[in-house]
Amino acid sequence: MNYPYLLFDLDNTILDFDQSKAHALATTCAHFGIPLGPREKDLYTTINTACWAAYERGEMDQPTLRYARFERFLSALNWHSSPAREVADFFLHELGQTRFEVNGAVDMLERLKPDFRMALVTNGLKDVQRSRLHATGLGRFFEEIIISEEINVAKPQHEFFAHTHRLLGHPPKSELLIIGDSLSSDIRGGHDFGIATCWYNPQRKALPPTHQPTFDIQHIREVEWIARQR
Ligand SMILES: [Mg+2]
Repeated sequence: MNYPYLLFDLDNTILDFDQSKAHALATTCAHFGIPLGPREKDLYTTINTACWAAYERGEMDQPTLRYARFERFLSALNWHSSPAREVADFFLHELGQTRFEVNGAVDMLERLKPDFRMALVTNGLKDVQRSRLHATGLGRFFEEIIISEEINVAKPQHEFFAHTHRLLGHPPKSELLIIGDSLSSDIRGGHDFGIATCWYNPQRKALPPTHQPTFDIQHIREVEWIARQR
């Protein structure tokens, strides 16, 4: 097979994080009575995206990220009736319970499991990711699970990939393939580390000018064909 080692991103690659997040946000706002219409949803998305980008650049640490999103969101809404920390904790708990999968991803992992060595590589909060892996039973597919908060370094940073490579026993880099939806963390990080990259790009966005992925796929099931080709 072409790539005996497969590194999978979790959010929006195996689990449908957008759907999970929307669900958790709606449940959280309903619980606290916080208004949530299209404008508020867009606002949260903008704030959340900016916080994660700062985290990936190493400018914000995970404990800050955990609460900063809701502090900024509630303050932008002028909402002072609920403490941001309480809202953030409620949201993260709800998020940990969600189990929406990217269509076809789990069946594919089932088929790949006997023939490949697979690791899960995710930038995320450890309690959320661990509880989602537990709730979905996805942990069984992976011999290594690397969560950025647990090792204090995130994709795309070199040390994240070096750590993963070490855990897998230093196989030749040409045998590794990372699969993920994020150009800034998965594809850029894999590219800079010198391994093949597969961009899960269901919306057919334009290829980036730099850090081009080795493969560009529209359906997650295409990973199997890429991984098995000789
Ligand atoms: Mg992702």
